[in-house]
Amino acid sequence: EGHFVAEKPDDWKSAIDTTRPSIARAYDVVLHGKDNFEVDRAFVAEIVKVVPEIYDVATYNRQMLGRGVRFLVDQGITQFIDLGSGLPTVENTHQVAQRANPESRVVYVDNDPMVLAHGRALLAENERTAVVTSDLRDPAAILGDEAVKRLIDLDRPVGVMLVGILHHLHDDEDPRGIVEAYMAAVPSGSYLFITHFCDSSQDSRDAEKKFLALLGTGRFRTVAEITAFFDGFELVEPGVVPLPLWRPEEDVPENLTVGQRLMFGGIARKP
Ligand code: SAM
Repeated sequence: EGHFVAEKPDDWKSAIDTTRPSIARAYDVVLHGKDNFEVDRAFVAEIVKVVPEIYDVATYNRQMLGRGVRFLVDQGITQFIDLGSGLPTVENTHQVAQRANPESRVVYVDNDPMVLAHGRALLAENERTAVVTSDLRDPAAILGDEAVKRLIDLDRPVGVMLVGILHHLHDDEDPRGIVEAYMAAVPSGSYLFITHFCDSSQDSRDAEKKFLALLGTGRFRTVAEITAFFDGFELVEPGVVPLPLWRPEEDVPENLTVGQRLMFGGIARKP
């Protein structure tokens, strides 16, 4: 579990467990995708009972991903490691980045076997993009992966993306140490991009209980805990904020809803 690597084209099918919800497939449900099973839809239906806006939350997160990637390209970043990238959906990192700069290179990392199969099909004709099916909790293995070595020059600044994924790591899995390991491997001028479930309301605490009970992961950390992931780096304006408030491209309401405060995010530069 977690270290599946498809050796033969059909291996991924046998690795899919349809008896339990998967993070990637449940996220696909809230993004209105088709790569999910009844068990994933049943899980999301339970979350809807405590956070009816959960579908909107996924949209805010994808919109933030787009704004963040465009911001990074504007800072001159042309290489991205997208950790916990998810199933391909609309406006994936390489599409956003390559539209802004066609030279952009992206390595997607995910441990869900369905991501590899779909990712390969999507990326078959894009030589600046690769999908690695590995566990991001092993930074040394990821950084030593053949695709990372081929596409990412670790002597030049890198955009390290942990978007919508760190909350799926338990405290005893040392998420901060994992972030530090990736950031230690990239040079000055690199960026760290995080979005994260936030302990921001009673509803968020109810959601955390359901995530942990039914999916097994989903830590809604405090703003201080999320901000601590950026220790040692220079947070760019406006810091760690609810996603709709991070460099919005449209007007945002003054009073944010529970869903608009359910995830916080930020971007920081390695000095
Ligand atoms: N980053 C995308 C986004 O924000 O739109 C997708 C986020 S999705 C909620 C989290 C993804 O992380 C899922 O596709 C899941 O399979 C993947 N994931 C969870 N644990 C992982 C691990 N230990 N190693 C690699 N990927 C993991």
